[in-house]
Amino acid sequence: MRLIDGNVARKRLVLVCLVAIAGFLPAGAVGKEAGACTPGTELRLSAPESSQGSLLLIELKSAQGLAEVKGDWGGRKVAFWQESGKEGIQRGLVGVDLEKAPGEYELKVTGRTASGEKIVCSAMVEVKKGQFATEKLQVGKQFVEPSPEQIKRANEELQKLREIFDRVTPERLWDGKFRVPLDGVTSGSNFGKRRILNGNPGSPHSGLDLPGATGTPVHAAQRGRVVLAEELFFAGNAVVVDHGLGIYTFYGHLSQIDVKVGDTLEPGTVLGKVGATGRVTGPHLHWGLTVERARVNPLQIVKLLGNASGEPARKDSTVP
Ligand SMILES: [Zn+2]
Repeated sequence: MRLIDGNVARKRLVLVCLVAIAGFLPAGAVGKEAGACTPGTELRLSAPESSQGSLLLIELKSAQGLAEVKGDWGGRKVAFWQESGKEGIQRGLVGVDLEKAPGEYELKVTGRTASGEKIVCSAMVEVKKGQFATEKLQVGKQFVEPSPEQIKRANEELQKLREIFDRVTPERLWDGKFRVPLDGVTSGSNFGKRRILNGNPGSPHSGLDLPGATGTPVHAAQRGRVVLAEELFFAGNAVVVDHGLGIYTFYGHLSQIDVKVGDTLEPGTVLGKVGATGRVTGPHLHWGLTVERARVNPLQIVKLLGNASGEPARKDSTVP
């Protein structure tokens, strides 16, 4: 790392673990009353507060039907979708980037009822510091001190990924629950881990490492379109799936890629096989999730959109 400047080093590490996760939704926690809504409308959140790398599910409810619902959380857009068969319910996901500064951020939600009445809701959402481990790693010199060609390549790939994550497909391509991409695996490790590489602090690990032997099938977490399927310098063979509304899942270190850019994948489609390509010490799946560019723990979307009712737990504010 000594041979490259800090900025390049930082970018390089961002690339290694481009997608992130982490976060703890205090299950069942009761939030403080915050914000207010237009009468007849209700805003609920899945948790009263958030932490770095977590995801919040928001629900806006009106007896009169809802249209044109939009959200903004501290300058970040929140896309909403209508729950099927429920005209009066719209939901959105707020991603809390794993490096977002702790503090309070205002969530504003606006929309219209079916009769055209304007709706305005707001709530303060606190971000707490995530609890992440620190890892000291010694890696091969060629990865710490990449050649100018390798730095150029890694930076180009980083730029390409940023451009992908900046695009928000306005349609929701997924429908229903998200799944963990490996059969029989329910947890992973290293999300948000701060890394000190050969003595130099780097960017946090932005994805979740799932255990798996080389050749294990990797399934798409939900329905979506393949927007990247190629070998990357740090992530090895990688696939990025666009699920719409700014939601992307990332699959890295694959031994084999079974899909191509433009393919529409159904939930569970095998997109590749577990491997050890890129900068890794052994076979595993690096699984990432970005929501409106925020790197969050992918297990959170499984948890939030995977339960039977999908009901957010926090009743944030109601004006009867
Ligand atoms: Zn990883």
